[in-house]
Amino acid sequence: MVIVNTCGFIDAAVEESLETIDQALHENGRVIVTGCLGSRAELVNSHFPQLLAVTGPQAKDEVMQAIHLHLPSPHDPYVDLVPKQGIRLTPRHYAYLKISEGCNHRCSFCIIPSLRGDLVSRPIDEVMEEAQILVDAGIREIIVISQDTSAYGVDRHYQTRFWRGQALKTRFFDLARALGELGVWVRLHYVYPYPHVDEVLPLMNDTGLLPYLDIPLQHASQSILKAMRRPGSREQMLERIRNWRDVCPQLVIRSTFIVGFPGETDADFDELLEFLELAELDRVGCFTYSAVAGAAANELPSPVPEIIKYERYDRFMQKQQQISADKLKRRVGQSLTVLVEAPTADGFIARSYADAPEIDGVVYIDTDSPLAIGELCRVNITGADEYDLYAVPSR
Ligand code: SF4
Repeated sequence: MVIVNTCGFIDAAVEESLETIDQALHENGRVIVTGCLGSRAELVNSHFPQLLAVTGPQAKDEVMQAIHLHLPSPHDPYVDLVPKQGIRLTPRHYAYLKISEGCNHRCSFCIIPSLRGDLVSRPIDEVMEEAQILVDAGIREIIVISQDTSAYGVDRHYQTRFWRGQALKTRFFDLARALGELGVWVRLHYVYPYPHVDEVLPLMNDTGLLPYLDIPLQHASQSILKAMRRPGSREQMLERIRNWRDVCPQLVIRSTFIVGFPGETDADFDELLEFLELAELDRVGCFTYSAVAGAAANELPSPVPEIIKYERYDRFMQKQQQISADKLKRRVGQSLTVLVEAPTADGFIARSYADAPEIDGVVYIDTDSPLAIGELCRVNITGADEYDLYAVPSR
């Protein structure tokens, strides 16, 4: 049996989800669909009436019911001994930790709030308990995810809970500090640049909280941000980034942007390019705007022709590539701690604090010495290209 966890965020994701379901049906035939696209069950069933079940997001119980219905499990003491930390799909040395679900924002291009609802934060003691179980299982890196990490706890009015004798408020700062004290790397994703994010920057200098922030900014032109229904301004953001770097000079910032949003003029796009230059972000992803059924942005006038979207995408990526190459060149000669990920023909692939798995660059270690996957080791950086670093083990 195959369970397909789908995304319905943008049209391209819907297509990819449908293709994956099709592939699973061809290769296996017994398929359950879950995740965001599952909330549009009519659409999914109209393409694939032979599916065993279609459920929406966060429907673990329904998925399990469907599995037990279609694939009753014979009792097997070896299979039934599921470890306490559960079974994860990530490698043994890192894990994602989901702290909340849903979002209180209403960005005009996004349908996540209608698919997943408003923000619902997990109580902090529950999150910490899961994190401790992961650490006890040998995890070296915890990657915190949600739709809006810095809003954590707003819905619970920052309720105080108790974890292992400590009183902790269900809020972003307490969570970042408590996770940072677990003795492993902790990486924060999907952080909205609220003023209170400033408080966690000092923690990045002397706890396990990595000096890394993933902040999806989406654009820098005021009129486009307004049309996207996103607060903040380019100047505020630049000032905040400058202050963060004063407090934590080794900070690495990752962000994502959308080009070709309806109404985006050449001037708006130039403003975005200028922002990239001024902000000198370390890791940047870019999407061309794609309409998704149900998003308010579909009603906006002045859609940008596809050819211009792709031309802007290329210019954006070229600009960022140069910024990234310049920044990585400055790393040559430095010594860094890296987490070993996988062997290569000439050594190993590893990641430093600046590299989130699968989305950022990597560090290629040239060595004949055996290194263990999931091991932390020191390397000297000997070279750099646009996105990756090259290194040898430190003596
Ligand atoms: S903050 Fe993110 S998840 Fe929330 S509405 Fe905006 S894009 Fe969607």
